[in-house]
Amino acid sequence: MTMSTLELPCFISPYMKKVLNALEKDFFSGEDRGWFNALKQQLIPSEKETQIATFELQDPLGSCNYQVTPRAVHQYKNRLLILTTAKCFSYCRHCFRRDYTARCQEWISVSEQIEICNYLKQHPQIQEVLFSGGDPLTVCDKQIEEFILRLRESSPKLLIRICTRANVFAPERITENLVAMFRRQRPLWVIPHINHPVEISSKYSLEARQSLLRIVDSGIPVQSQTVLLKGINDTVDLLAELFYQLTVMGIKPGYLFQTDLAAGTSHFRVPLEQGLKIYKSLCKELSGLSTPVYALDLPGGGGKINLLQVNSDANDFKVTKISNKYVFTKNDGKIWEYPDD
Ligand SMILES: *Cc1c(COP(=O)(O)O)cnc(C)c1O
Ligand code: SF4
Repeated sequence: MTMSTLELPCFISPYMKKVLNALEKDFFSGEDRGWFNALKQQLIPSEKETQIATFELQDPLGSCNYQVTPRAVHQYKNRLLILTTAKCFSYCRHCFRRDYTARCQEWISVSEQIEICNYLKQHPQIQEVLFSGGDPLTVCDKQIEEFILRLRESSPKLLIRICTRANVFAPERITENLVAMFRRQRPLWVIPHINHPVEISSKYSLEARQSLLRIVDSGIPVQSQTVLLKGINDTVDLLAELFYQLTVMGIKPGYLFQTDLAAGTSHFRVPLEQGLKIYKSLCKELSGLSTPVYALDLPGGGGKINLLQVNSDANDFKVTKISNKYVFTKNDGKIWEYPDD
């Protein structure tokens, strides 16, 4: 097998350019609180991306083990993940699906949509479908709604989850029409990817903030997800501010993810032990409502695990540290490894 990795495109949306410009001005006058670099590092390619560590993987989540059509991943009993497109409004340099997002695929074809509908009919245990990618909101409302309607023909009660970074990168995409479509298509949740307070601040990202509030105010439930990123959001104070601000806006912080082993992302990885230390302090700062679950998607397809519950009865896993890596052992004897940087 060749392990050639495609380069993740570099694209920064017009809105993000505007935000970066405003931050740069304050950076030069020393008033940006380090926020300029926090955003820049997420968007501007670095030389470090070409350094691919030996343990980094082309398919870090082992999605290929659970692929039921080229774009559908059935890893958990009652939910199906669909990689609807590989396009994004801007590309995050830490993207854990970078091998997929680098392929510039269009919106999922009608023939594959039908294939997925047939799969749903044969698997009535699937209650929930996640629209992910890439960013599902890069196509027009009509295409998204047609796909949802088609899925619901096969499984009328299906819960839809829209995973997106449009609020942060292209808030103008969250139009009244889109929100009205979300309302028509309930039950539906929106899951925005938000990593830093700068991405929702009234000073720099007012439009992003307002776009989230449009969804919340419409009655659509919103749960955020965050990736723990070295030098960007890896302090207790900063994460506490982010999760508190989200909660104030009516958004439930869902997951804080330990960085996956995607190729060329070592420079973003916070060592697991340090991540746990940060998270435990964070739990003391925040209410239960504001605290997300700290999770790791086990490399190679082990699935998501709650890192706080490792070695407790609540989890199926035991973890041991052996020289420079963590070894996760499932009750059925299967093992997964994660490096200790
Ligand atoms: C994360 C994920 C889900 C959803 O899992 P939740 O714990 O419900 O958020 C579903 N399928 C795949 C393949 C995933 O990676
Ligand atoms: S928006 Fe999501 S899929 Fe797109 S580049 Fe960022 S992390 Fe990857």
